[in-house]
Amino acid sequence: MRALSEKVTGIAPSATLAISEKARQMQRQGLQVISLSIGEPDFDTPAHIKEACIQALMRGETHYAPSNGIPELLAAVAEKTRSENRFPCSPSQVLITCGAKDAIYDAATAVLNQGDEAIILDPSWVSYEPCVLLAGGKPVHHPLHGKTFQVTDDILEAVTAKTRMVIVNSPSNPSGAVLDRTSLRILSDLCEDFDLVALSDEIYEKLVYGKEHISLASLGDMAERTITINGFSKAYAMTGWRLGWAVAPQPIITQMSKIQQHSISHPTTFAMFGGVAALTGNQDCVATMRKEFNRRRDFLVQELLLMGFEVAPADGAFYAYVKTGGDDVAIAERWLETGHVAVTPGSAFNSPGWQRLSYATSLEHLREAVQRIRRLT
Ligand code: PMP
Ligand code: GLU
Repeated sequence: MRALSEKVTGIAPSATLAISEKARQMQRQGLQVISLSIGEPDFDTPAHIKEACIQALMRGETHYAPSNGIPELLAAVAEKTRSENRFPCSPSQVLITCGAKDAIYDAATAVLNQGDEAIILDPSWVSYEPCVLLAGGKPVHHPLHGKTFQVTDDILEAVTAKTRMVIVNSPSNPSGAVLDRTSLRILSDLCEDFDLVALSDEIYEKLVYGKEHISLASLGDMAERTITINGFSKAYAMTGWRLGWAVAPQPIITQMSKIQQHSISHPTTFAMFGGVAALTGNQDCVATMRKEFNRRRDFLVQELLLMGFEVAPADGAFYAYVKTGGDDVAIAERWLETGHVAVTPGSAFNSPGWQRLSYATSLEHLREAVQRIRRLT
């Protein structure tokens, strides 16, 4: 068909969503598939958050809201950003979006001109490159080397006269690496020296095990050139709510806001009241989930190491990133077809030879998955 946009036909479907859908289909056929494919907490959304949403719905919060988000949530995000992420933020610098994914899409569209280059640090989450391409930009992939996946000075090699943006994701999906202060300093120097905008996706900031999460915008003057992306999906087990946010300098938020006004208007009004409860309510639920993720992480990483695999530093998020070598897509297919364990091959993250195993599932499932993988290797 001729009436299709080359910009859209040129991008691939989301590999994470495709694999998890395939696993679901196999489950529907009655196969006992264990899905370690999608990054989605298996916990229910905490009760007080659901309650706040239900109350909002029942009292009639069912109308259009201000397109940047309800004032209560803008204020809660700004307060959280100042106190936890340690950089200045006013409510007018916040945009509430339909998940972090929507915020990333808006950010790329607001900043990039046709042909502008965006540096993406690999291994990289599946949606960064498509967001850059849909915005008319050019993705420039830069691999993070070594066993640590930290940033080194060789990132300078990725910069050209057309570079406009660098996309940073710490804690990382898929590697689990948490960038240290030295890496962040290299990135902030890079942005300042070449006048770049940083897109810092910090959606896994609350899922860090024994390391410190540092927000890129808290370094030097970085708040003046950083779009910080965050959301409720991972920390509060709210993936289906489709609620996230961006914090950015006012001129960037003004542009992102226009994209939102002309596309989605704003996220669901009563869902945003759940978001207020999440940020302002008791945070014990986050600690409880983090503790359980940590237990699963310890188990899975230990078992994978015992099997002789190299495992990336699983310091954050809920993924074990495992070096299998060989044809990672074929290996993932064999693990799924023969072993009934769904994982995501590294090629989806622009790093062939690896597999991503999500441990956002029960220990019982992880135990069974490990046994099945052991039989296949
Ligand atoms: N960034 C990263 C690194 C992710 O893993 C995800 C997972 N979906 C997102 C953004 C998008 O999250 P959301 O559900 O808030 O759109
Ligand atoms: N971010 C999760 C993942 O990587 C959820 C799926 C998606 O949105 O890509 O599996």
